[in-house]
Amino acid sequence: MRVYYDQDADVNLIKSKKVAIIGYGSQGHAHALNLRDSGVREIAVALRPDSVSTHKVKAENITLLSPADAARWADVVMVLVPDELQADLYQQDLKPHLGNGAVLAFAHGLNIHFNLIEPRKDFDVLMIAPKGPGHTVRAEYLKGGGVPCLVAVAQNVSGNAMELAVSYAAAIGGTRAGVIETTFREECETDLFGEQTVLCGGVTSLIRAGFETLVEAGYAPEMAYFECVHEMKLIVDLIYEGGLANMLYSISNTAEYGTYVSGPCAVPQEKTKKLMRQILENIQSGRFVHDWLTECRVGQPSFKAYRRHWANHPLEAVGTRLRHMMPWITANRLVERNTN
Ligand code: NAD
Ligand code: MG
Ligand code: MG
Repeated sequence: MRVYYDQDADVNLIKSKKVAIIGYGSQGHAHALNLRDSGVREIAVALRPDSVSTHKVKAENITLLSPADAARWADVVMVLVPDELQADLYQQDLKPHLGNGAVLAFAHGLNIHFNLIEPRKDFDVLMIAPKGPGHTVRAEYLKGGGVPCLVAVAQNVSGNAMELAVSYAAAIGGTRAGVIETTFREECETDLFGEQTVLCGGVTSLIRAGFETLVEAGYAPEMAYFECVHEMKLIVDLIYEGGLANMLYSISNTAEYGTYVSGPCAVPQEKTKKLMRQILENIQSGRFVHDWLTECRVGQPSFKAYRRHWANHPLEAVGTRLRHMMPWITANRLVERNTN
């Protein structure tokens, strides 16, 4: 497996290009600002005319274009609009306007891997996928660090698509942490699997189940919040720093023994893996993406209902109250909805 670090990247490749970032959301703002701070001089952001993000781009003095104008202007177009909107964006705004020898880039393999976008054959198609939320991509960069990235090439007309992908990854901070060469398929399937079963879906379902069990047993919600939500980060920080062993070293022997005997009872390994394999198969067969796009086509009714339902979970209100007592958490926010 090929891993690139700063010394393997030529950041001048991307610095000599005109780069357009389409979308200014979680990833979009991080890419645009990191590229700028790494010395890429010609950067534009493209948004829809009515976009709520317009003022954020203007506040950074970054050139704002329409997606079609950005496609005409740029050497490299990075597509950072939501996955479910990318195929329409490509058909309407990019395909007719991208120049010969342009570069079309993505931060996730979904649209290319599942053939929702079938790109014109006359340009490079590549991927630079940070393995972390966009706000963290920006925050780590500002601290002098970076978020690991995956890079892949689907079309290599220029002959140096991978070098450019690594150069771009370097400019957003990726090569400080490590950049792994992969394929659109591998990135797409592992990314969907990880976010659904462990990182986003798994962790939230585990938190909710733990919180609800304690509250239903008569314990104070504040207690349940600290135990099952707040402390999650403190434990995960130790894992991030040195693996499971580092965390197990830091906790008490009592907690460590409880980990071994009760953890696999609460999350039965063989049963969970069997269910995870089904989820993986659903992803690999394209069924998950098919269902998600169908949901989008009818206006996302169940997606929006889930969102409302989850936002009303009692742990959110308890958490809001408790965090008021910990002003340092909000003083160093990663997500500031008005500006990023
Ligand atoms: P987002 O929802 O945070 O932001 C999307 C942006 O696109 C918004 O600024 C929106 O106004 C804009 N937009 C929507 N439609 C548009 C259009 N037609 N023309 C121009 N702009 C438009 O999106 P995101 O979560 O940053 O995801 C972008 C891509 O990055 C996706 O492919 C996603 O899979 C990938 N990715 C995201 C993360 C993450 O941390 N969120 C991590 C890795 C990869
Ligand atoms: Mg993802
Ligand atoms: Mg304890």
